[in-house]
Amino acid sequence: MLEIVNVTKYYGALAAIRGVSFTARRGEVLGCLGPNGSGKSTTVNIVAGLLDPTSGEVRVDGEDIRRDLFAHRRRIGYVPETPEVYSYLTGPEYLTLVGRLRRIAPDVLEEKIERFLRLFGIYGDRHGRLSGYSKGMRQKILIAAGLLHDPEIVVLDEPSSGLDVGTTLVLKQLIRALAADGKIVLYSSHVLEFVEQVCSSVVILREGRVAASDRIERLEELMNQPSLEQVWRQLALHDDTDEVASGLIEAMRL
Ligand code: ADP
Ligand code: MG
Repeated sequence: MLEIVNVTKYYGALAAIRGVSFTARRGEVLGCLGPNGSGKSTTVNIVAGLLDPTSGEVRVDGEDIRRDLFAHRRRIGYVPETPEVYSYLTGPEYLTLVGRLRRIAPDVLEEKIERFLRLFGIYGDRHGRLSGYSKGMRQKILIAAGLLHDPEIVVLDEPSSGLDVGTTLVLKQLIRALAADGKIVLYSSHVLEFVEQVCSSVVILREGRVAASDRIERLEELMNQPSLEQVWRQLALHDDTDEVASGLIEAMRL
């Protein structure tokens, strides 16, 4: 079980998240949903053990991850939001680097990499440098890099950005399969549709605080709304979208 207990993170004077608490269980995909700047990346980076909280703690099976951060990082598979990868390497070279850091045996690693590349449909691009890959191709490499060592806990920060329709479908199925395999999956996104389709529970962040947290069908029930989109509108959207859109058009025309 993964527990985030009353976590607050300040960047200087700015509170990015405040008093965030939630729980994710094995076999479950927990969605972390919120508009840009609501604190999703901060939250998942803390869960991944890459960022220290200002206060509060993250526990796995009851133990604070800071008691052994190295062990925690070994069981985490983290797929970052920004496809910032070593652009002078080829896809397989990058994955080999990651796999070696993860201490995967070379022959196993080679096989894993080939399978990932083939399954993602980028095997034909294996000799090209990452700098020449499309955003979606780089994203596939990052997803592969996060899963190579068969982690217990998978943390994905907006992994569907830049993926084509076919790959998005594969990703959805993959996330469900990871959970069915007994892993804990934390999936951060601002794309409601994706979360609604792959997550069993959701934590909705608004301005760094938990606005709502429950099983998806319970949230709809509680809010008496027919879909998560209505719940989301009620909870997270405080700006009037029409107003914002027309304001943007106006600003463009200045
Ligand atoms: P999200 O992923 O939901 O877009 P983030 O966790 O990236 O949200 O950001 C939450 C808030 O913290 C935002 O106001 C953002 O500007 C701020 N923030 C994020 N990272 C940093 C950082 N490294 N330094 C200062 N402020 C940051
Ligand atoms: Mg983010």
